[in-house]
Amino acid sequence: MNFQKKNTNFDIVIVGGGPIGIAFACGLANTTIKIAIVDKLSKYAISNPKVDGREIALTQHSLKILEKLNVWNYVPKKLISTIKEARVLDGNSKYFLNFAHSEIKKECLGYIVPNYLIRKSLFKRVKNLKNVTLINNSECLAVNISKKYATLKMSNKKNIKTSLVVAADSRFSKMRSKMGIAAFTRNFDKNMIVCRMRHGKSHKNIAYEFFRYNQTQASLPYIKNQSGIVTTATKDLTEVLMKMNKKQFNKEMENNFDSSFGKMELVGKRYSYPMITTYAKKFIAHRFALIGDAAVGMHPVTAHGFNLGLKGLDILNTEIKKALKNKTDIGIIDALKNYQTKLHRAAAPVYLATNGIINLYTSNILPAKITRQFILRFVNIVKPIKQTFLNILK
Ligand SMILES: Cc1cc2nc3c(=O)[nH]c(=O)nc-3n(C[C@H](O)[C@H](O)[C@H](O)COP(=O)(O)OP(=O)(O)OC[C@H]3O[C@@H](n4cnc5c(N)ncnc54)[C@H](O)[C@@H]3O)c2cc1C
Repeated sequence: MNFQKKNTNFDIVIVGGGPIGIAFACGLANTTIKIAIVDKLSKYAISNPKVDGREIALTQHSLKILEKLNVWNYVPKKLISTIKEARVLDGNSKYFLNFAHSEIKKECLGYIVPNYLIRKSLFKRVKNLKNVTLINNSECLAVNISKKYATLKMSNKKNIKTSLVVAADSRFSKMRSKMGIAAFTRNFDKNMIVCRMRHGKSHKNIAYEFFRYNQTQASLPYIKNQSGIVTTATKDLTEVLMKMNKKQFNKEMENNFDSSFGKMELVGKRYSYPMITTYAKKFIAHRFALIGDAAVGMHPVTAHGFNLGLKGLDILNTEIKKALKNKTDIGIIDALKNYQTKLHRAAAPVYLATNGIINLYTSNILPAKITRQFILRFVNIVKPIKQTFLNILK
């Protein structure tokens, strides 16, 4: 990787050095494509990401992509946990919908890795790539597209010219709006608190999602009797939970999990995120593509945002390599349109299903409460429906 700002001509400029922008660059290792990753953060912040409370639940498919990108080797094995089973419970009922690893014929349903570790591992891989330049401390302010190239206006007063702009600049993507691409946006008026907790009883590598009547409480089984604890609730309630002293918070969580983990103790800090989802109305334009959260910003309740981002960048990597092989210009619509079609096909059902689940499982009116119970039983019993959910994890 190069760390200089003199060069201003690249084949691809990735706006955003978050996990998806960097993973996309890793997918173009060993090609002749000259890539720049532009990020407003410092090199230190990108290479040494801070703990942010997110424990990422990776699917088996994501594992395959991270292996293909040569990134998985960099994740310390002793810091990876597995999910053997996932249980979904509703209201105060003890009945649960169960997904087990045996149903997908794998040794686990998925893997838990803290987000900062994924980002650190991605950086370790990308820094070895000779065709990638990191332009840090630089915000991309505007994008201008002409027939033959795109020009990016940077905060460091330099303009960068490129054949293709790939925007991985978050769900609030400035590049998306500068390109005039609208997005379906939904503000749930809720916050999600994430934190790590240590507990007395073993989680047995089971992930839980409790759709209570006033909040959603989830746990992701991590190493050494610890879990990633996820609480989604109204802003007022999450503010109270954020301010609660540690002892009270521990007690509150023990109660919310019906003491199934025994004594619980907060490890580190609590982090709060606003719940806003976005889905871009299109993912491509001439010399422009959206990836990661900039394309589809999922609600984290079903833990699919990063997984979907990996799927998308894998598709785009493949299409770009195809264009390169066929000696086609990588920035023209013809080279990009397969990406749009395939990502939409993968993302729309997951996005709509997730939003549907949230609509139903956060509604407390009586018909919804009855439907909530019915659906858990229905999915548990009707094999083809259950298989549709399990297929997302494969
Ligand atoms: C609480 C929580 C839990 C989650 N859990 C899961 C999970 O279990 N499984 C899962 O698959 N997903 C999960 N996700 C989703 C996952 O974290 C995101 O999908 C992922 O981080 C998106 O990465 P990204 O690179 O697209 O965007 P970001 O991580 O938002 O990175 C964007 C980057 O762009 C840079 N940038 C922005 N604008 C500019 C600009 N104009 N110029 C230069 N640089 C710019 C920023 O500095 C940043 O580095 C979770 C999300 C949250 C909030």
